[in-house]
Amino acid sequence: MLYIRSRSVLPITAPPIADGAVLVDERGKIAAVGPAATVPAPDGARRLEFPEGALVPGLVNCHTHLELTHLARKNREPAFAPWIRTIRALKDNTTPEEFLHSAEQGVRDAWAAGVTCVADTGSTGAPLEALARLGGRGIYYQEVFGPDPAKCGSSLTELTSAVAHLSPLTSHLVRLGVSPHAPYTVSESLYRAATKFAWHEQLPVAVHLAESREETELVRDGTGPFAEALRARGIAVRAHDCSPVEYLFQLGVLASGNCLAIHCVQVDERDIAILRDSGGAVAHCPRSNRAHGHGTAPLAAFRRAGVRVGLGTDSVVSVGDADLRAEAGAAGLDGEEALRMLTLEGARALGLEREIGSLEVGKEADLAVFSSTDLYRPLPSSTALLAVVAGRVVHG
Ligand SMILES: [Zn+2]
Repeated sequence: MLYIRSRSVLPITAPPIADGAVLVDERGKIAAVGPAATVPAPDGARRLEFPEGALVPGLVNCHTHLELTHLARKNREPAFAPWIRTIRALKDNTTPEEFLHSAEQGVRDAWAAGVTCVADTGSTGAPLEALARLGGRGIYYQEVFGPDPAKCGSSLTELTSAVAHLSPLTSHLVRLGVSPHAPYTVSESLYRAATKFAWHEQLPVAVHLAESREETELVRDGTGPFAEALRARGIAVRAHDCSPVEYLFQLGVLASGNCLAIHCVQVDERDIAILRDSGGAVAHCPRSNRAHGHGTAPLAAFRRAGVRVGLGTDSVVSVGDADLRAEAGAAGLDGEEALRMLTLEGARALGLEREIGSLEVGKEADLAVFSSTDLYRPLPSSTALLAVVAGRVVHG
């Protein structure tokens, strides 16, 4: 058992508590939360005290690429299409052992930042292995690529064998999903096949969607740098006369009701209505969008429309670090609204709000403690004082 007392406790679903405490039971669930005087501290419970701390639910990072942790600041390519190609080349020069080491570092960095749950997309399986090995919580979406419709079958075979290989490592902490990567790397037939597979296996889906203007050019008009690169490889490209969001809706990808749409910068009111009506959620990555010059996703419009939104750091290759609290500032949020977005709203975006995201009796004990002076205004590289996943101290 674990008893944590802190200068303040912010349960999110209840008002802040001065001099509060949380008791965690042997199953890793929250047994009590409230003013320290009312929370029992049983004999034998490990006691942790933070007289200058703010105890909050563990943060939820809705978009990471943990297998790329070792590539931080390694890609200086300014334009997006060549930047994507450079990532591919850097990955080709990485061994499986390096990917695993990189992903493990990514999990530890997340914990140090107070992040206790990640939604990660990757192609190597290393992030899921790292989460399973280290005892982290997250959803790992196995990516599938293949812009050439002629190679749809082999791409799907790779996906199904990766899923078969990784499935034994899943648990109530570590879940598996599927990610047909993006409209410029996935053919129509592969989108359909991967979605059908995910549906059949009851796996959640994540997609990079409506990120760059170049992606919209490709989908709507069949032009631009992505179209040119595909044609240079002998792959036919045609105009779909619709937005990327409409395109994936028509292909049935958004229809699962459990689709995490990453970025969603290049969207209009109609796209937002499609996302809402299809039950999709958005992973909002403001610092990545800014770093690549994609523009600003309409966060306020998503929230007004009732679209579930969580915040994500994207990869450290795009942003340089995985400081999720900095994303809240970049999204124009602060105070308790920022904290709610980083915790409960993030959990809701991933469909995990019954398990995590707030400090409530019966929920999983995913917690973080920050210095109360920099909870809302984190200094660069300031770390959490404590991170707990399912009742187990993983940092601090
Ligand atoms: Zn990404």
